Amino acid sequence: MNPFRIIDVDEAGFCFGVRRALQLAREATEAHREVACLGPLIHNRQVVENLEERGMHVVDDITAVSTGTAALVRAHGAGPRVYEMAEERGVELIDATCPFVRRVQQAAARFAEDRYQVIVLGEREHPEAQAIVAHAGGRAIIVEDASELDEIEISDRIAVVCQTTQRMDKLQELVSSLLPRISELRVANTICDATSKRQKASIQVAEQADLMIVVGGYHSANTNRLAQICRATGTRTEHIETAEEIDPAWLGGVEVVGITAGASTPPEATDAVRLRIEELAARR
Ligand code: SF4
Repeated sequence: MNPFRIIDVDEAGFCFGVRRALQLAREATEAHREVACLGPLIHNRQVVENLEERGMHVVDDITAVSTGTAALVRAHGAGPRVYEMAEERGVELIDATCPFVRRVQQAAARFAEDRYQVIVLGEREHPEAQAIVAHAGGRAIIVEDASELDEIEISDRIAVVCQTTQRMDKLQELVSSLLPRISELRVANTICDATSKRQKASIQVAEQADLMIVVGGYHSANTNRLAQICRATGTRTEHIETAEEIDPAWLGGVEVVGITAGASTPPEATDAVRLRIEELAARR
């Protein structure tokens, strides 16, 4: 058997927007006695629990925040109504919307002002996609993939924006399906660079590995997508949240393990996974 190897994906773990949101959240808990977060800050249970210990609590929406307290808008962003309600209710908003997400919101708002029907390529239940729709003032619809175009009524002037974590091939497919049906199409490729770089780097490592470990929250859209694309290379892929979930049997006959992590995965979680794999490999 060849020497056992672990390959870390260099572009993995916290992205710029998540690091910034966490920094703002930590500063907010130092500056305010009570901070409400409008939904879980990131899709990582361990990080959310740590913030709760510092005095942050998660609420479903702005109506659950008391007057005179502070609330944090997470990296996914929020619709304009949330900002208006915060003002009306005397709630101080700390805005951790990722600047790349804000760019999508602004593009959607501009297209809507120019009277395009806005299509948001994204996940219908995802708060980022829903907030983008809200910024388009109700002139937007969410489409999860090109096949849905057969079921909806579309206008002749369409503008497309994407939830930042979408895949380029899905955007290309949507654009190709729209082109023959309408007379005017505008497209803003708003896929975040951090996402595509992480995906490409993970594919490269998955292609060299016998086993790919994807670390990140089960509810994290970008982590789930990383797991999907690693699996699509044909390499066995396991998605885990913590090192404790590693089954020693996974390493049977394995020479190269690749490790990657979603944009909301803290470096400690990935370090713990690497350590656990090293320990198990040493016992073989
Ligand atoms: S993945 Fe991109 S858009 Fe999303 S929070 Fe990170 S940097 Fe921002």
